Amino acid sequence: MNTFLSESQEALKDTYLAFAKEHVLPVANQLEDHTLSLKDFVQKLGQQGYLGIVVPKEYGGAGGNFIDLVLFVEAVSQFDAGLGLTLASHYGVVELINKFGSDVQKSRYLPLLARGECVGALAINEQQAGTDFMAVATTTTGGALRGEKTWVVNGSIAGLFAVLARTESGVEIRLVDSAADKSIKVGADKSKLGLRSAVTNDVSFDKHQLGKDSLIAEGKTDAALQLVMNVAKVIAGAASVGVVESALSHSAEHARTREQFGQKISQFQGIQWKLADMSAEAAAARLLTYRAAWSKDDKPEEFVRDAAMSKLFASKVARLHSAEAVQILGALGILSDSPTERAYRDSKVLEIAEGTSEAQKLSLVKELGI
Ligand SMILES: Cc1cc2nc3c(=O)[nH]c(=O)nc-3n(C[C@H](O)[C@H](O)[C@H](O)COP(=O)(O)OP(=O)(O)OC[C@H]3O[C@@H](n4cnc5c(N)ncnc54)[C@H](O)[C@@H]3O)c2cc1C
Repeated sequence: MNTFLSESQEALKDTYLAFAKEHVLPVANQLEDHTLSLKDFVQKLGQQGYLGIVVPKEYGGAGGNFIDLVLFVEAVSQFDAGLGLTLASHYGVVELINKFGSDVQKSRYLPLLARGECVGALAINEQQAGTDFMAVATTTTGGALRGEKTWVVNGSIAGLFAVLARTESGVEIRLVDSAADKSIKVGADKSKLGLRSAVTNDVSFDKHQLGKDSLIAEGKTDAALQLVMNVAKVIAGAASVGVVESALSHSAEHARTREQFGQKISQFQGIQWKLADMSAEAAAARLLTYRAAWSKDDKPEEFVRDAAMSKLFASKVARLHSAEAVQILGALGILSDSPTERAYRDSKVLEIAEGTSEAQKLSLVKELGI
């Protein structure tokens, strides 16, 4: 196994970071306070090829691998981790169709998803079915979808929902086109602590008539759910790596320039040790996340474990060290719109979205066979 990036991946990483600096950094605050349309921004990402990184070339994508996608998420999340969450939901749907879609579903949806003409959204959780998502009450009886989903990222900008629903004999996943249909209602964007640029909505289906090609992964729902959730976890891990990188660069820069007691605060050992811990744990979170991205395709039997480790560790490191970054900046660190204040808020949400830290531990315990 080679856990290091190839030369071409290193080059891709630089390209993505340059893109993020030029196109995400200048609008990160407007995306966060919704004065810039997320839908328009995401469509532009699609036009530039960033929504089809792992879509095969025959369907209009870049035909890249999962590590390429993770590198892109890490880069944009240094400036706006909410975009990381937006991408987790979109690419969860892309990978679901990539791996489990029929030829009809692939040729109908993948080109649209890759070009950003259609954004994907995962509609799994319900009020009573959070960590225990298999308790969903949404049904698909008689060819009609009925039920209420909650916390659907991309809900108000989605063109395609992947919906987990109950049948008479178990659960299944349906692909649901959101195109102007009165039987689908999308609630207001939720106001939340962090990752604010990602829109999150309740979505209800009232006797929505399902198309004949809407069923996906027939007989393989468990495997499909595992894939979708683990893909989303690793993307959340990559977003967390972006957040801790932002915390590190801003706090190190501040420490180098701020003077107290006649010297730079970077000369105080208390500050140095915070920065040393931050850089070591950021690197560990990054390696774990790249490893998880690699195992998806190259060692699938370890993907469940690696995805849980990436999500658990990277989001914890992001929360702990964004708090330390705020501390290093002192009063400046808590100013609204400062990158450290944002990292602090975003990182807490990253410990909940795409499965809580406790849910990751449950996966790891299961993998240990305990
Ligand atoms: C920003 C954001 C984006 C999201 N995006 C989506 C999305 O796109 N699509 C979607 O379907 N859902 C989405 N979700 C929902 C998300 O998956 C759930 O919030 C998450 O799974 C936890 O469910 P819950 O909030 O209902 O908490 P609960 O399940 O009620 O858990 C409450 C607490 O109990 C703990 N807990 C629960 N069970 C156990 C256990 N067995 N052992 C130990 N502790 C346990 C949890 O870890 C948590 O700390 C999103 C959530 C957020 C916050």
